[in-house]
Amino acid sequence: MTFDIITIFPAMIEEPLRNGILGRAIDRGTLDVKVRDLRDFTTDRHRVVDDAPYGGGPGMVLKPEPIFRALDAIETERRAPVSVILTSPQGRRFTQTIAQQLSREAHLALLCGRYEGFDDRVRERVSAELSIGDFVVSGGELPALVILDAVARLVPGVVGDERSVTEDSFSRGLLDFPQFTRPPEIGTLRVPDVLLSGNHAEIRRWRKREALARTLERRPDLLDGAVLDDEEREILKELRHGRH
Ligand code: SAH
Repeated sequence: MTFDIITIFPAMIEEPLRNGILGRAIDRGTLDVKVRDLRDFTTDRHRVVDDAPYGGGPGMVLKPEPIFRALDAIETERRAPVSVILTSPQGRRFTQTIAQQLSREAHLALLCGRYEGFDDRVRERVSAELSIGDFVVSGGELPALVILDAVARLVPGVVGDERSVTEDSFSRGLLDFPQFTRPPEIGTLRVPDVLLSGNHAEIRRWRKREALARTLERRPDLLDGAVLDDEEREILKELRHGRH
């Protein structure tokens, strides 16, 4: 899958992408990520990307022409139209479901805002405006990395063992079950016996129960949209019964 990221701070994107799962996927060529410096698409000597807002008020606004030029250049270079994602606290809330949908696209461009955000005319070229949560950060680089990471790890071949992706929190509308590793005990802190039992059927059922119990306790809102099998529906009924 191909990503283009447009930013005035390329280093904020490049360094994080050198590490971990994404770094390896880029080295292998499973992911193709190009970071584009918005200033390269200015035409003036000072490479100005921002200007004062019409109507007055504090802060600066990102000028539209460099962004349009950057998108044109990307489409010319890639020889295909591109879906453009605008990062914005005013966008639709980004979720695992949206990540799954986006992971089926061949090519995404992510726009990172700064200052007071973009000239609103940029929205003409945008296919989705996404927010990573109801708070404001000072630029779109961290949100773009969050979106890129969540989407890319769903692309086949990016995460080594695909089961770990399908079992992740939210992938089926449930939180993940608790995990433990060696040693079996640290003072009074013990790993649950069932996990040491070697009984795979028991372990599977315990994990289902824990995932459901956690979701019920922490995020009951998720259960409405969750995809449950018969056994899970049964366990959930027991858990709900036990609570009242
Ligand atoms: N004045 C703007 C916020 C600008 S913050 C407003 O109230 O809508 C500067 C940039 O940071 C934004 O253009 C966007 O790219 C990014 N940003 C800030 N918070 C974000 C969030 N919750 N989700 C996605 N992007 C965000």
